[in-house]
Amino acid sequence: MSTLDTLPVVVIGAGPVGLAAAAHLHERGLPFLVLEAGDAVGAAVRQWGHVRIFSPWRYDIDPAARRLLDDAGWVAPDLDALPTGTELATDYLQPLAELPQLKPHLRYDARVEAISRLGLDRLRTAGRDTTPFLIRLADGQEVLARAVIDASGTWGTPNVLGASGLPARGETDAAAYLDHALPDVLGTDRDRFAGRHTLVVGAGHSAANTLLSLAELAVGQPGTEVTWAIRTTSPARTYGGGDADALPARGALGSRLRAHVDAGRIRLLTGFSVHALTPADGRVTVVVRHGDGSEEMVTVDRIVAATGFRPDHTIAAELRLDLDPVMGATRALAPL
Ligand SMILES: Cc1cc2nc3c(=O)[nH]c(=O)nc-3n(C[C@H](O)[C@H](O)[C@H](O)COP(=O)(O)OP(=O)(O)OC[C@H]3O[C@@H](n4cnc5c(N)ncnc54)[C@H](O)[C@@H]3O)c2cc1C
Repeated sequence: MSTLDTLPVVVIGAGPVGLAAAAHLHERGLPFLVLEAGDAVGAAVRQWGHVRIFSPWRYDIDPAARRLLDDAGWVAPDLDALPTGTELATDYLQPLAELPQLKPHLRYDARVEAISRLGLDRLRTAGRDTTPFLIRLADGQEVLARAVIDASGTWGTPNVLGASGLPARGETDAAAYLDHALPDVLGTDRDRFAGRHTLVVGAGHSAANTLLSLAELAVGQPGTEVTWAIRTTSPARTYGGGDADALPARGALGSRLRAHVDAGRIRLLTGFSVHALTPADGRVTVVVRHGDGSEEMVTVDRIVAATGFRPDHTIAAELRLDLDPVMGATRALAPL
C-alpha cells in the first residue's frame, strides 16, 4: 500500500454534486472528506432558496445518494414535483448529510483556498503522480489527499456586466446600484425594487426568473418599471421551446416572459453591450456601445446583473489543469 492509499479523496463543496460524489465514494469503499465553505450543506443553493428550479425531483436525486437514503427509511418527495432551492437543501441534502455514512466525513466552515502537490510546485514533474495533494484552508489548516474532486460550483463567481468579459467602466463604483442574479424580489429584497425602475441584464433563466418576479411586483406597486437588456438581437433562446421544451417548467418560464414582453409590461432592449456605468443623483446610467461605435444611454434606479457564472480556478492555480478553453470545464465534461 502506498502513502496515497491511506489518504482520503477530498471533495470541495457540499452542494448537490459534492454530496453525490461523497455517496459514490462511500459505495466504492474509498475514504473521503468533504470540505464545505458554508456552515451547512447546500450553502449556495440556500442563497437562491426562493427560486423554484425547473428540473423535477427525479433528476435532482443522485442514485447512490438515493440508495443510502432509502436504506435509512427516507420518504422521497413526489418525483414529478419541482423543488425550490430551500426544499432541495432541507428535504434532500440535509437528510443525506445527516446519514452516519456521510456525517463524520463532512467539515463545515472549511473554505479551500489553494490546492497543490506536497512539496512540488507546478513546474516540478519527478514523482508527481505518486505525491499527495496538499489542500490549504482559509484558516491555514492543511489537509493531504490522494485525489481531489472540485465540486465548488459557480455561484460565488458571477460574470461581470461589461460586454467584453471585463468589468464595464465604472462597474465597481456603481456596486451600490447592482444586484447579482436572483435577488428575492417578492420577499426579503422587495423594498429595493418596489416603485423603482430596474434593468435586468442577461438572457438566461436567472434573468427570466427575476423579470417574472418584477412583473408580478409591478402589478401591486405603482411606479415599478422593468426593462430587460440582452446582447443578442433576439430573445428566442430565452423564450425556449414553450410547450415543446424538454423540461415543461423551463418552457413555461419562457412563455410567461414572452407574454409580458408582448404586452409591453417588460420593455426589451436588444443588441445591448454594456460599455460603462455612471451613478449620479441616486440613479445609474448605463452606456451601451454598438458595433458601429454609436452610443445609447439608459438611466434606471437599479440593475440586476444576470450575466451568468464561471468556475473559479484560482484555488487550483498551482495544479496542471487541462481545461476546455471555452467552457473552463474539464475537457470530458465540456461537450455536455
Ligand atoms: C436559480 C437557479 C436555478 C437552477 N435550476 C436548475 C435546474 O432546474 N436544473 C439544474 O440541473 N440545475 C439548476 N441550477 C444549477 C444548479 O445550481 C446546479 O445544478 C447545482 O446547484 C450544482 O450543484 P453543485 O454542487 O455543483 O454546486 P453548488 O450548489 O453551487 O454547491 C457548491 C458548494 O461548494 C461550496 N464552495 C464553494 N467554494 C468553496 C471553497 N473554495 N471551499 C469549500 N467549499 C466551497 C459552496 O459553499 C457550495 O455549498 C440552477 C441554479 C440556479 C442559481
